[in-house]
Formats: sequence, C-alpha cells, structure tokens
Amino acid sequence: MINADPLELAKFGELAHRWWDPDGEFRPLHQINPLRLDWIDGLARVAGKTVADIGCGGGILAESMARRGADVLGIDLSSKPLKVAQLHALEAEVGGLAYREQSAESLAAERPGQFDLVTCMEMLEHVPEPASVVRACATLVKPGGWAFFSTIHRNAKAFVMAIVGAEHVLKLLPKGTHEYARFIRPSELARWAREAGLEVAQFKGMEYNPLTQRYRLSADTSVNYLLACRKPT
Ligand code: SAH
Repeated sequence: MINADPLELAKFGELAHRWWDPDGEFRPLHQINPLRLDWIDGLARVAGKTVADIGCGGGILAESMARRGADVLGIDLSSKPLKVAQLHALEAEVGGLAYREQSAESLAAERPGQFDLVTCMEMLEHVPEPASVVRACATLVKPGGWAFFSTIHRNAKAFVMAIVGAEHVLKLLPKGTHEYARFIRPSELARWAREAGLEVAQFKGMEYNPLTQRYRLSADTSVNYLLACRKPT
C-alpha cells in the first residue's frame, strides 16, 4: 500500500500549470520560500550538499537550493507538478537538480543514509500516514545530517487562520487546500522525529501579517511552523 491520498495528488496535479505564477494559487509558497531557504541554509549550509526534497511539487524550494549550489533530488507522487518542475529547471538552466516520481518510503529503501539534507515542506499534512514519511526522511539522512519539516498546527487558531482566513476570507489558497484533521501538532511531529532516531534542533513559527501581506519567521508555532532535526553521528 502506497502512503498517499490520490485526491490530494490530483488536487496538486490540476493546479500544476500555475505553480510558477508568483501571483497564482501557489503565491504563499513563493512568498515563504526566501524565508525557509535562508533558515535552512543558515543551519545546514546547502552549497555542495546532497539534498532530497520530499513532496517537491513544482520545485520552488528544490530549485532555489540547487541555485545555491546544492545537488538536489526532488521527489513527488503527482506527475504534473514534477513535469512543471523539470521544465522550469531546464528553462532556467539550473544544474544539480533532478526530479523523480517516487514515494519517500521507496527512496529511503533505495538510498538510505545518502543525503546530507532532507527537506519535506508543506507536505506532511497531505499524507495519510505522516509518521511514515518522517521515518523515511530520517532513514535518508546521513549521520550528522539535517532533516527539515514544515506543516500546520492542529488547534482552533490554526483552523481559523489557515482554513477560514487563508482559504475563505483572504483567498490566499484555493478552497479545500487543507483539511483540518490532517494538521499536525508540533509535539506530534517532534515525537515522530525522535522515534525515527532524529534529534529535535529547532522549531520556528511562520506568521502572516494580512495588513502588510508578508510572512516572517518567529517563535510563534501556533499556526504554520518549521522544524529542524539532526541525525546523531
Ligand atoms: N514542498 C513543496 C510543495 C508543497 S505542496 C513546497 O513547499 O514548495 C505539497 C506537495 O506534496 C504536492 O506537490 C503534492 O503532490 C505532494 N504530495 C502529497 N502527498 C504526497 C505523497 N504521499 N508523496 C509524495 N508527495 C506528495
């Protein structure tokens, strides 16, 4: 049984042609990308590193890490976003970047301990068994390497901000992008990471200010948040 929800994959497939439109449905990913890229780079120095980007979609993060000198393999199970990612990398003439249609679990079985960094951003909340993806990410990382995750908290505030606010009021995301029951508490994500043999290094919150229409990293993990983990040597 593959750990994926076909409806979720289809949702991303339908919007794939819009992936690189900075003002389209994926605008929030474009807006948060410089923040998460700098945060990852600041902790793990991506230049010259091998990176697996799990659930890479159209490649916004994967391509930006390759531009900074990383050797990146992006994987996803939705084929249209992958095609868009491939085409974009080709047109932008970015090297050190490859894409494959593969699950996290299957890549982990094939290439355990072979990546300096694993990134898995805005993906876990779309998967039936997120803990299994976290385990796969932990398996993929070399001892001493880093794993980065981001997702959305499961609490009343996150429901109001991430679903009612972002999808219905501000219309930052298409309706139905997120399902509340799939949101993940930071404590759950940290537990899955530890159970997979990772050390929790740092949590960061990501806040959206509707007045300035900008995101920023903060200490507030109550809605969108990121987690950096290390694999012990
Ligand atoms: N990580 C990218 C894209 C986030 S959108 C970024 O942050 O910029 C979520 C992506 O997860 C979509 O491309 C979707 O196809 C992918 N996805 C959903 N379920 C998946 C699964 N089980 N395995 C791999 N990718 C999955």
